[in-house]
Amino acid sequence: MNDQPGATARSIEAEDAVLARNYAPLPVVLADGDGVWVRDVEGNRYLDLLSAYSALNFGHRHPALIAAAQDQLGRLTLTSRAFRNDKLGAFAAALARLCGKDMVLPMNTGAEAVESGIKVARAWAYRVKKVPTEQAEIIVAHGNFHGRTTTIVGFSDDPSAHLDFGPFTPGFVSVRFGDAAALEAAITPRTAAVLIEPIQGEAGVIIPPAGYLRAVRELCDRHGVLFIADEIQSGLGRTGATFACDREDVVPDVYLLGKALGGGIVPVSAVVADERVLGVLRPGEHGSTFGGNPLAAAVGLAVVELLATGEYQERAAVLGERLAGLLAPLVGDGVTETRVAGLWAGIDVDEAVGSGRQVAERLATRGVLVKETHDHTIRIMPPLVIEAEQLDWAVEQLREVLAGR
Ligand SMILES: *Cc1c(COP(=O)(O)O)cnc(C)c1O
Repeated sequence: MNDQPGATARSIEAEDAVLARNYAPLPVVLADGDGVWVRDVEGNRYLDLLSAYSALNFGHRHPALIAAAQDQLGRLTLTSRAFRNDKLGAFAAALARLCGKDMVLPMNTGAEAVESGIKVARAWAYRVKKVPTEQAEIIVAHGNFHGRTTTIVGFSDDPSAHLDFGPFTPGFVSVRFGDAAALEAAITPRTAAVLIEPIQGEAGVIIPPAGYLRAVRELCDRHGVLFIADEIQSGLGRTGATFACDREDVVPDVYLLGKALGGGIVPVSAVVADERVLGVLRPGEHGSTFGGNPLAAAVGLAVVELLATGEYQERAAVLGERLAGLLAPLVGDGVTETRVAGLWAGIDVDEAVGSGRQVAERLATRGVLVKETHDHTIRIMPPLVIEAEQLDWAVEQLREVLAGR
């Protein structure tokens, strides 16, 4: 503790003078990390219960991922897609196999994967489904979060995401999440795709009613519509399965992946689908300078190899049961509701206890990092490498904070 007194204040002051104020971070300045732990500039240690919104599913600096990155740093880091590189093919093949699909479109950030999915769905609608030009519609869900580009925020119903950023891209229709009848009513002959998060993350870990994903699949099949699952936050082990869609044995037409795919090292995202869908793209129609770069591909391949063992999905399932058991007794005791899917929990804090932000600040003083979402919800999403005792300790800290201690 206090290796460098005042270092936090100095660092925050320097940062706030030059940094755009599009975030309001907790007053903790992190300097190093290892597994589930991070340490600040004063030497204080924290358990990371956010995992960079699932980008750190394997923890900070997982040895296999760091080794893959370091090896690749010594060889080749960027070629652009003007040329081929010797890592991209192996990554794409492994990722396609993990997803049970034929083809991969590599990008960098999650929002780019979503944008790419939208473009692919529209091109598919015109070229395969024969929707009249410029008339394709994509159905999304209320409460969605798919990223921050202007097209994407245009169909967000969170005012802080879209206010003053219009005008927006047309062609999107929004229906109630979890309501299959509302979805069916919104489908028209012009519908190209349904784009949903199988579990809504930023909305507060909102789990749809059982059977909803199967109903979405069935409706998409019946009406010739693509089912695009944004698994950027929910996928790659978080919910106790490789994909949240697996929880209902549902296979979407298109997976959108990101976050954990970069192993907590570099941004790596992808659109994964069968040839009948992704095959609509022709050379020159879409791209990204950094997409599919050899460093990203080497890290992404190492991530897929970790997931192929099933070990992380299994950990998330087993520890997720434990987390649900630890959180259940808190309901009625500072918590109004909890929603748990694998190692992923949304916890609605009783207003009498304080805001989600206040709970996050108090937890930080106890060495636990979480982030609020909306006013009264906090999320618990530790790296999947967390140990049972660490999880117990973290929830105990939450219990104490909720009890006002
Ligand atoms: C984070 C997230 C995105 C956007 O990813 P970025 O890498 O931040 O652009 C898209 N969809 C979902 C479900 C997400 O959680």
